[in-house]
Amino acid sequence: MSTLEIKDLHVKVKAEPEHPEILKGVNLTINSGEIHALMGPNGNGKSTLAETLMGNPRYVVSQGDILVDGQSIVSMPVDERARLGFFLGMQYPAEINGVTNAEFIRAAINARRPDDDQIPIMTFLNQLDATMAQLKMPEDMADRYLNQGFSGGEKKRNEILQLMMIRPHWALLDEIDSGLDIDALRIVADGVNSMRGAAFASLIITHYERLLDYITPDVVHVMKDGRIIETGGPELAHTLEQTGYEHLKAGDGHD
Ligand code: ADP
Ligand code: MG
Ligand code: MG
Repeated sequence: MSTLEIKDLHVKVKAEPEHPEILKGVNLTINSGEIHALMGPNGNGKSTLAETLMGNPRYVVSQGDILVDGQSIVSMPVDERARLGFFLGMQYPAEINGVTNAEFIRAAINARRPDDDQIPIMTFLNQLDATMAQLKMPEDMADRYLNQGFSGGEKKRNEILQLMMIRPHWALLDEIDSGLDIDALRIVADGVNSMRGAAFASLIITHYERLLDYITPDVVHVMKDGRIIETGGPELAHTLEQTGYEHLKAGDGHD
């Protein structure tokens, strides 16, 4: 069992004291085996939290800590965090010309494994075939350049393909549901659900409750103005769908 602890996390995009904080003291603990949903209005720090957890150097931790099993990862670069089991699936995945989808996924898997334990090519190709079939992805998508000319829905499905192939421990999924039709949403949700297990945990960021009809989270958090202002069970997502975010109190105003 592993634990990810986010403690009084304050984040800015510049280190200077006069620069405003985007995250203003986030506290959150996720254990292996759990799926947490992070909801909230746009522009309130959800993606900033995901990027900061993954180690995007644009975001500066000005206070607080991020701990995995008690060890701080704040000064760890993104590649080390990937080896530790972090994965970020994004709303707008990058397109890379000249690198095929299959090559990218194989490199991502091998970068997370020791040099003397790289994935055998046939094992990789068999897993890739099976996973793409499960996600109802056309075979030629493996040989196309990463995300080049993929539709919005194909890109999201491709993020889930990467997730299922890489099998990370900490999956940060940032609005992977936006723009998906109901069939694609189901496939994406089935993919995430198939990952559930003792060596997997996920923080699923979503603006809408719809995805949570298909992936039942263990815990739901609401973020507003750089803080988590409410935490509850799966029913919280349904309450929010009915009442909206407006009635929720603003941040607690401390600092
Ligand atoms: P959410 O994902 O909840 O919509 P974000 O984390 O994307 O919110 O953004 C929160 C706030 O931080 C917004 O005001 C946004 O403009 C600002 N912000 C996020 N990333 C950057 C950045 N790289 N540079 C400057 N401002 C940023
Ligand atoms: Mg504080
Ligand atoms: Mg966002």
